[in-house]
Amino acid sequence: MDTFISVDAKNADAQVMNELEMLVYSDEQRFSRTFSGSEICEFNKTNDASVLSDEAMLLLEKAFEIYNNTDGAFSPSLGALSDLWDIKSESPKVPPHEEIERVLNNCNFSDVVLADGKALKLNPELKLDLGGIAKGASAGNCIEYLKKKGISDAVISFGGSIACLGDADKKGKGWIIGIKNPFEVSQIVGSVKVTNCYIAVSGAYERFFEKDGIRYHHILDPETGYPANTDVESVAVIAEDASLADALSTALFVMGEERALEFYNRGLYEFDAVLILTDGNIVVTEGIKDVFSFNGDADYKNGKKLVYNK
Ligand code: AMP
Ligand code: MG
Repeated sequence: MDTFISVDAKNADAQVMNELEMLVYSDEQRFSRTFSGSEICEFNKTNDASVLSDEAMLLLEKAFEIYNNTDGAFSPSLGALSDLWDIKSESPKVPPHEEIERVLNNCNFSDVVLADGKALKLNPELKLDLGGIAKGASAGNCIEYLKKKGISDAVISFGGSIACLGDADKKGKGWIIGIKNPFEVSQIVGSVKVTNCYIAVSGAYERFFEKDGIRYHHILDPETGYPANTDVESVAVIAEDASLADALSTALFVMGEERALEFYNRGLYEFDAVLILTDGNIVVTEGIKDVFSFNGDADYKNGKKLVYNK
């Protein structure tokens, strides 16, 4: 998953922990774009219809639904564009504008046909990239597995996105989860007291390179082909459904504040969000205002502090 995963599961023995680790590996073997031999990797390589596991099929169908409902802000078929930007390479470069435009034509999810347990691409250049949803999907699988094993209290971090189950201290109060300050990553902007949910975080600060003073990060705007450049610096989405939370955190980042709040108010999905804006303001959606506690010491820029008006 190209990230650090930590698990704190109360009363889980070594066998449960080992099996949990294997579960994450098997998710990676299904969903990873870069793990040679994964289902997605094989799909990306071939022009024939790929037979997919039930898990991969279900995730793709869900990704397709979220793609439609977010008007394409969440787009799981940007693989060719992710390859072009290759942000994780040792010396990433800004691709020529014409190349970005050309490759963008090979990123339409409508060129993917899903039917009868198979996926087929109508454009041979199309590649899937489930990087915006796979960690959430796997975290959700981990929580389901722990529940099956009778574990009632756990917290799992997938590189800063957190799944939590039950309670921290058996007092029925859930978990207190800190949300990182994207302007000063050693700090938190605040915390939420929650349980049985996933908190997915998408931020420009997570993966990026700089060129001529401009920051190029890993969350791409499917309309322009460039890193999404909105008024959102980072966003945390909280939902019971982990893969949904993950996909929506990526989508809201791409949408920017106005579109994101419109989307929230449409009520298509059950979720809440904390948006940290580039101007240093914090916006928290209605459903979690009561459980969000702001850290008034969180730094913004030039000696200023972040601002939250409830
Ligand atoms: P996240 O950290 O969950 O926001 O996911 C970011 C990852 O999702 C990137 O590293 C890409 O693999 C992929 N990605 C980038 N832009 C998008 C997008 N607009 N929609 C869906 N996935 C994306
Ligand atoms: Mg995401």
